[in-house]
Amino acid sequence: SVPAAIAAALSAGARQGLLMKGGVVIETAARTGLVAFDKTGTLTRGRPRVTDIVALGRDGREVLALAAAVEAGSAHPLAEAVLERARADAVAFVPAAEAAALAGQGVTGKVDGRTVFVGAPRHATSRAPFDRGADSAVESLESAGKTVAAVIVDGTLAGLIALRDEPREDAAAAMAELRAMGVRATMLTGDNARTAAAIADALGMEHQAELMPDGKVAALKQLGAGTTVMMVGDGINDAPALAAAGIGIAMGSGTDVALETADGAVLKSRVSDVPALIRLARAAMGNIR
Ligand code: ADP
Ligand code: MG
Repeated sequence: SVPAAIAAALSAGARQGLLMKGGVVIETAARTGLVAFDKTGTLTRGRPRVTDIVALGRDGREVLALAAAVEAGSAHPLAEAVLERARADAVAFVPAAEAAALAGQGVTGKVDGRTVFVGAPRHATSRAPFDRGADSAVESLESAGKTVAAVIVDGTLAGLIALRDEPREDAAAAMAELRAMGVRATMLTGDNARTAAAIADALGMEHQAELMPDGKVAALKQLGAGTTVMMVGDGINDAPALAAAGIGIAMGSGTDVALETADGAVLKSRVSDVPALIRLARAAMGNIR
C-alpha cells in the first residue's frame, strides 16, 4: 500500500543516516532531475589549508601576520586555515581593531592604524592596483584549483595567500553515479570562476561561480524552471538556498546539521549518500505504482 512503502523507505533511510521529513519529500526526491551542490564543506572537506604565501615587497611572515590579525575575528573556513598556518609558523599577531566580515568578499580591520583587507582578488582590485606579475600569480594559483586571498594594506597589495580545500574522496564517484541515473549535477559557489572550474572539471560536473548568497537563490529559481532541483548544502550558511530549491538536503556530521530549513539530511558527510537517497526514493515510489 502507499503508506507502507513510504514508511519502509523512511525508516530504511534513517538507519543509513538519510533523513527525509515525510512522504512528500520522498515523492519530490524521486522526481529530482538536477542536484545543485554547495562547494565548500559539501563537495570539499571544508578544511582548506594554506599552500602558498606570495610576498610582494615585504617578507612572507609579515604578510601572514597581517592576514591573521584580520582573520582572527572571522569564523570562515579560510580564516581558520590562515590562523592555523600562523600558529604552525609561530608568527605572532594582535587581533585587528574594527574587524568586519564582508559577505562573499573577505574581511577588513585596522592593524597599527593601517587598513587591511583580506579577500577575493576580484573584490580587491578596486582597493589596490594589481600589476601584471600579481595578476598572473593569481591566475596560475586559481587554475590549480586554489582559492587566493589578496592581502591589501592601505591601498597597496602586500601579498597573496593561496589555499586549497580538497574534494571529498567519494565526490567524483557520486557525480558519476548521478550521471548514470540520468540526473544532472552542478556546483554553486561564491568562489572564483577559475578555481570553481578546476574543481568541477575534476569531479565531472557543471558549475556556476562567483555567486553572492542571493545569487545562489536566483540560480536555483532559474534551474528549477524545467525540472525538480535538489539543493545540497551545509544547512547553516546555505539556508536560503536550501529553502529556495524544490527539495533542500543538509549535509553534515550528526547533530550539528541545521534541519529547520531543510527537507532532509545526509548525516555522514558522504556525497555518495545523495544518489543513495534518490535511489531509495525512486524505489519507494516504484513500489507504489
Ligand atoms: P563559498 O560558496 O565558497 O562558501 P563564500 O560566499 O563564503 O563562498 O565566499 C566567497 C569568496 O569570498 C570566497 O571564495 C573567498 O574568496 C572570499 N572570502 C569570504 N570570506 C573570506 C575570509 N574570511 N577570508 C578570505 N577570503 C574570504
Ligand atoms: Mg559555503
